[in-house]
Amino acid sequence: MHLYGTQGISNEGHLTIGGVDTVELAKEYGTPLFVYDTALIRERARGFIDTFKQLDIKAEVAYASKAFACVAAYQLAAQENLSLDVVSGGELYTAIKAGFPSERIHFHGNNKSYAELELAFDTKIGCIVVDNFYEIRLLKEISEAKQQPMRILLRVTPGVEAHTHDFITTGQADSKFGFDLNNGQADLAFEEVMGHEFLQLLGLHCHIGSQIFETDGFSLAAGKLMKKIGEWKEKHGFECTVLNLGGGFGIRYTEEDKPLAPHIYVAEMINTVQAEAAALKLAMPEIWIEPGRSLVGDAGTSLYTIGSQKTVPNIREYIAVDGGMSDNIRPALYDAKYEAVIANKANAPKESTYTVAGKLCESGDKLIVDAALQQAESGDILAMFCTGAYGYSMASNYNRVPRPAVVFVEAGEHQLAIQRESYDDIVQNDLPLVLKKGE
Ligand SMILES: *Cc1c(COP(=O)(O)O)cnc(C)c1O
Repeated sequence: MHLYGTQGISNEGHLTIGGVDTVELAKEYGTPLFVYDTALIRERARGFIDTFKQLDIKAEVAYASKAFACVAAYQLAAQENLSLDVVSGGELYTAIKAGFPSERIHFHGNNKSYAELELAFDTKIGCIVVDNFYEIRLLKEISEAKQQPMRILLRVTPGVEAHTHDFITTGQADSKFGFDLNNGQADLAFEEVMGHEFLQLLGLHCHIGSQIFETDGFSLAAGKLMKKIGEWKEKHGFECTVLNLGGGFGIRYTEEDKPLAPHIYVAEMINTVQAEAAALKLAMPEIWIEPGRSLVGDAGTSLYTIGSQKTVPNIREYIAVDGGMSDNIRPALYDAKYEAVIANKANAPKESTYTVAGKLCESGDKLIVDAALQQAESGDILAMFCTGAYGYSMASNYNRVPRPAVVFVEAGEHQLAIQRESYDDIVQNDLPLVLKKGE
């Protein structure tokens, strides 16, 4: 069985995380419960940051916080000297509430509203990653009205699309994000922002995909961006100071996934950018990256209590847990695969095969199909690994199921990071019917 980070198995045969017994956590906080191994998040953050330091490259490692956003997570990111990517007013507001240094916040999104952009100016964030021409118009309006400068990057689609196990080069990238690098849009955007009184263009951004296990896509994209920067330098004297190559570094969910260590991605990017800078006689820009999943994904474990069981003779055995697609939509949405263990029997052999069903009223609400597991009984605690990214952050109240609690554990200590929702929370925005029934 593959264990992650500080996970271990106690003498009693219980799964532990950060030196804390997960069965005890389930008792104390209830289930479903997200447990985060904060030491592992710190280790991952340092893995990226230290590689840049060792190679003496100026960098910002921005946590793409849509993977898992809450006040405590933002405070952890700040402790670890990460920068922060936000993609909405809600994430930005949370970051400010968390006391995150605003100059290290970067704002993304393909349809930022006027109010969201105003909030970005008012909170004096470090950079807005500009996605489209409408946004350029809004930014000019707001910055002129406020007489306030803003640092920006232009998001471009380089025509490189990375998939889990390969990447493809597309001529005309069909993406809802960014300015196309190949059809003239990026040049137009450049001309619109260059020389503006308040908009200070730092450089270019791209994000080529997610759960990527190769370095080639990043190198190819970096090369294309550098060539465009070289062109703008030659034609317009543009000095690029930042190249942002996005996130998407893959993690291990199951034995089929073979992720590279953070320093391998980083070293490869640096090599490419240095080589291009030398060839094009450009100054070496700062390199920014935006890991989300690879910072928090394998640091999160979901705990559930097993309830009902059902045997379909000769076909399948189901066990049902007290959560499901409301706290983890990824299996239903992306056919995502996970591994699990019965936390209170973690050292027993995995001799059984169960399909782990959620409790939501959708037949597609299955968390794992044909999971290898210990013999299960009602009341056992199921621990599902690697649910730290795009789990809680995509959670919903479907079926009016309250969202789970989130606990952080480290070095034998544990703390609540997000409270479990109550039924009162569920109805708090509901209003009574006032319209009269027709006669
Ligand atoms: C989602 C996203 C990321 C993070 O992707 P991961 O696969 O979680 O690393 C980074 N940058 C941008 C622009 C994104 O949209």
